[in-house]
Amino acid sequence: MKNNNSNIKLFIDGFKKFQKKHDNILEDTAYTQQPKAMMITCCDSRIDPSLITDTKPGELFVIRNVANLVPPFEGDLRHHGTSAAIEYGVLYLGVTDIIVLGHSNCGGIASLFSNQNKIKSSDFINNWIDIARDAKDRTLDRCKHNSQAEQINCCEKESLLISLQNLQTFPWIKDKIDKKEIYIHAWYLDLASGTIEAYNSDLKEFIPL
Ligand SMILES: [Zn+2]
Repeated sequence: MKNNNSNIKLFIDGFKKFQKKHDNILEDTAYTQQPKAMMITCCDSRIDPSLITDTKPGELFVIRNVANLVPPFEGDLRHHGTSAAIEYGVLYLGVTDIIVLGHSNCGGIASLFSNQNKIKSSDFINNWIDIARDAKDRTLDRCKHNSQAEQINCCEKESLLISLQNLQTFPWIKDKIDKKEIYIHAWYLDLASGTIEAYNSDLKEFIPL
């Protein structure tokens, strides 16, 4: 079937180029994986976790969702995709570090701000983004005199702190944090400058890596 609107050829050609260039780099990890860390980041097409951390297949267990949010632990029988992936990475793969990576110009976070809200109604997105609603309230409290662009940047960082809090509502993560078997980190990638800031919980601020 010919579909002139499809971009799939770009990706088939890309895969063939990848195959030619690399002598199967997936072979080493073909039968098992032992990632060292978990990264929870945004679906945004500009974020490439392996590229920016210079890691190979098998080293980083990546979870992606809209606006890199961690929901609170909810023990119901709904379909919790992000929580299921977190459980797998923590309890079955035994990662020692969880990095929540946020970024500048995040459309998901911007949608919390009314006149940036391009998503008027949605089946899933608005309800999902509500996880970060407290981050917006904190931002408006702390940065009420800033421009809206600055408030959105501030909210992108505040939402990372909500995710750190929510990670600790998972009882088995809290237990591992207390036993120093797992460490949680919040990183913020500024796309324009290509820099990353990490949250320092002692100083209560984001510091460049
Ligand atoms: Zn984003």
